[in-house]
Amino acid sequence: QPTLTVPTSPEEIHNLGQAFNELLTLQNQRLQHERQFISDASHELRTPIAAIRGNLSLIRRRGDAHPEVVPESLKFIDEESLRMQHLIENLLHLSRADRAQLTLTDQDLSFIVLQLGEHYQPTLKQPLNLDVAPNVHVAGNAEMLQQIIVALLDNAQKYSPADQPISLSLKQTADRIELAVADHGFGIPDDQKQAIFQRFYRVDQSHSQEIEGSGLGLAIVHQLVQLNQAQINVTDNQPTGSIFTITWPRPDLKNK
Ligand code: ADP
Repeated sequence: QPTLTVPTSPEEIHNLGQAFNELLTLQNQRLQHERQFISDASHELRTPIAAIRGNLSLIRRRGDAHPEVVPESLKFIDEESLRMQHLIENLLHLSRADRAQLTLTDQDLSFIVLQLGEHYQPTLKQPLNLDVAPNVHVAGNAEMLQQIIVALLDNAQKYSPADQPISLSLKQTADRIELAVADHGFGIPDDQKQAIFQRFYRVDQSHSQEIEGSGLGLAIVHQLVQLNQAQINVTDNQPTGSIFTITWPRPDLKNK
């Protein structure tokens, strides 16, 4: 039973004051975070809406006299509304992951990785190498683990050329379990390796800008990885490209 004692000494009062201040700072940071999120999200949604409205107005003004503008504008409206739909789905994912309280259960990660790899192999434009150790288990949530792997494969496919293989691997070392997705694509500059996990962050390079994306994928992955009590980091592949690695401490060593 916790007991409540009234602080009496100056030192106790000082400590209590300090704890209270820390709590306030934390609350403020959270609020600021949320404000930033809402402002980023609104900004991202404003762009497609403006484009849709602009094209509607174009059709209205010029559609009768110049019917040839109509199909092109409709195609654009279609694409932009689809982009908005994806964006909103991703934002919902993020806010759900924010609130998720989940129980982790034993998962056969080898099975999950192999199954997804085999499923996605024919749909990727690059060859996919699978290197999966058998019987690797973690405590996790199957759906989230799948979502993480699919998102990383999707990025590897988006940000690397068609003739360079992607690899999906799972291994168990003396003290940990490592799941990795490696590509031979553009790679990620060192000074942006942390930032890519932030919401809406995209590497500022021409090829990233040409490729469709919202910068939310890795923020979602990051949260899902945390919820599954693992860690994610990104390193350079050789001679080019990136390796995204998710690491769990070996479950049998966790409590030792
Ligand atoms: P999106 O792909 O929608 O932009 P992500 O959050 O998934 O958003 O990724 C954030 C950014 O990180 C991307 O815009 C891209 O610049 C970079 N990135 C992600 N994965 C890779 C990769 N495999 N290779 C190179 N750059 C990547």
